[in-house]
Amino acid sequence: MRFVDLRSDTVTVPTAGMREAMAAAPVGDDVYGEDPTVNRLEATVAALLGHEAGLFTGSGSLANMLGVRLHVQPGAEMLCDQMAHVVRAELGGHAAYGGVTTRTWASEAGVIDAAKVIAMATPDAGPYLVSTTCISVENTHNFGGGTIQPLTQLRALSSMARERGIALHLDGARLWNAHIATGVELDVYGALFDTVSVCLSKGLGAPVGSVLVGSTEAIAKARVQRKRMGGGMRQVGVLAAAGLYALDQHIDRLGQDHYRAGLIADALRPFGVVTGETPTNIVPLDLSATSWTAQALAAAAKSEGVLISVLGPVFARLVTHMDVNDVDIERASVVLARLLAE
Ligand SMILES: *Cc1c(COP(=O)(O)O)cnc(C)c1O
Repeated sequence: MRFVDLRSDTVTVPTAGMREAMAAAPVGDDVYGEDPTVNRLEATVAALLGHEAGLFTGSGSLANMLGVRLHVQPGAEMLCDQMAHVVRAELGGHAAYGGVTTRTWASEAGVIDAAKVIAMATPDAGPYLVSTTCISVENTHNFGGGTIQPLTQLRALSSMARERGIALHLDGARLWNAHIATGVELDVYGALFDTVSVCLSKGLGAPVGSVLVGSTEAIAKARVQRKRMGGGMRQVGVLAAAGLYALDQHIDRLGQDHYRAGLIADALRPFGVVTGETPTNIVPLDLSATSWTAQALAAAAKSEGVLISVLGPVFARLVTHMDVNDVDIERASVVLARLLAE
């Protein structure tokens, strides 16, 4: 059986064109800074986001860890959403390897309220309280349902954080999706943050990789930490080439994923499981009003060829991506609607 795999946009496999670009890539030893394709990828992403320098990493979690660590000394504090990937899905790496402590805020679908966030911050807290030195924002917000941070809130947060000397990190794993959905340029987002991480392996369809961008000085420090953590890579231009190809070919098509997520959401909305809009490529399903658990629904859908992910007892998630087409979306909608109608 061919599965319609809607678990995540990480499940895509490289296209023929991408594999050709990978095979043709000039390479060198990247630990010596001699891989021309990696250097080109790092410079390209930095320029897109309006930053000075970039660093290629094997995962988004590593890019986030290296970025946050630039801003937070061991024992100091990062603030983030309680559903943020940095605190829920990076397995405590920020704390385990960087000594980063965190406090979190609650939100409506992951969308920030700049005034509320700033009100929590305690920069230069002295000897009794933990000092806040970084605020991390996620855009789009994964567990919030692919939600987009409003530019007015980001601008307010950025100026208030800067006034207080608090650094800002953007987990932009899916910043491409926010850019396509809103038309806001990537460097407009980029300018509001000290460091930004972006994923090449989500909607862009590359097999591996993220890039962290920031100032030349910050990225030089992150490069040292990357090697220290075992993340130095050698002739890795074959992977960077996939990223460059993805940047060139796969950003503009993200609108299709958003459209298809909207189609599934509309098909399932009558069952009371889709809360909120579907601004990008993620459809969160809240099953609390049904008799389904997420596990049971995922198992039943799987037996009919549709894969979805389980994120909580009654919380499931569908994600559209470049390896599903209109026929797949129709099939998934029919299967899920029939199950939910039971
Ligand atoms: C996927 C993702 C990451 C990075 O995940 P890796 O699996 O480590 O590459 C970071 N942030 C968000 C919001 C993500 O969705």
